Amino acid sequence: MEIRGQIQGDFVTIVTYHYVRPIKDSLYPDIKGLELQDFYGQIEYIMKYYEVVSMDDLVASINGQQELPDKALLLSFDDGFVDHYEYVFPYLLERGLSGAFYPSVSSITKCQMLDVHKIHFVLASQDNKVLILDKLNQYINDVKEQYELEDIEIYKHQYCKSNRFDSGEVIYIKRMLQYVLPGVLRSEIIDYLFTKFVTKDQVSFAKELYLSENQIRTMIGEGMHFGGHGLNHEWLNHCSRSHQELILTKNKEFLECLGATNNCMTFSYPYGAYNSDTLEMISRHGFDLAFTTKVGLADLNLVDNYEVPRIDTNDLPISFNAELVNWTRQLL
Ligand SMILES: [Zn+2]
Repeated sequence: MEIRGQIQGDFVTIVTYHYVRPIKDSLYPDIKGLELQDFYGQIEYIMKYYEVVSMDDLVASINGQQELPDKALLLSFDDGFVDHYEYVFPYLLERGLSGAFYPSVSSITKCQMLDVHKIHFVLASQDNKVLILDKLNQYINDVKEQYELEDIEIYKHQYCKSNRFDSGEVIYIKRMLQYVLPGVLRSEIIDYLFTKFVTKDQVSFAKELYLSENQIRTMIGEGMHFGGHGLNHEWLNHCSRSHQELILTKNKEFLECLGATNNCMTFSYPYGAYNSDTLEMISRHGFDLAFTTKVGLADLNLVDNYEVPRIDTNDLPISFNAELVNWTRQLL
């Protein structure tokens, strides 16, 4: 019997977080992330309506070894920020909860600033994004002949389009620097902008931004799950087959070395991007589950293990007394 507003199936809600920190009072109040107080509030909301499960529970249930509670929810944290050790981990411990964490290998093992985050901090460094846009376009114009690039207007027409999180200008800057321009040039421009607007000292910045291996080991020791998130946060669908193979092999080695694969091994696609090669390899390398950025609840009876949808922290309220959102209401 169908009850109005309720969806049929065996659903688990998986929430994605990135930055979780006291943002307003930080050096970068414009960084796109979740304010720490709002994280606390959101966990209150979640504990009121859901039952938080661990990754081991979820994998066991998908393999038919155990049943998940009604209204099961998994907390997932992408990008391996020190925020996750400093703020998230103690709070989860205090509340007796577990989470799943996805760092990219090079940020941890080499203290390397990932281009994706350099772009975030460049964008957060200026209220007026046009300043960054101008520097970017100026650079592109200067090397246009050398790299046989298109006219700026053509790029703008194609990529200056807002989405549910960002303005057209911000999307344009991100896309140009994420995959539109040739790889070598992209890194060169990102370094130029990062040096100009943020800092010259990338290693110190990375050490303050990302988890250390010791912090990860401590978290694993207290029951947190760690999975793969690329080497340098690559768009896997833009990588060659052999490069994808290398990325997955290195991710597996990294996780094995941390002792993170005892019960299960999972992956979160950077940018939610993958292709048919990725799906074949991720299965062959023995990953149990892989998470996308497709927005939705995962129906345990139907979900493909390597294309698991999630919702974003922005999709859920941030206080105990908040009105129910549709993602919650449809489960009641
Ligand atoms: Zn990521």
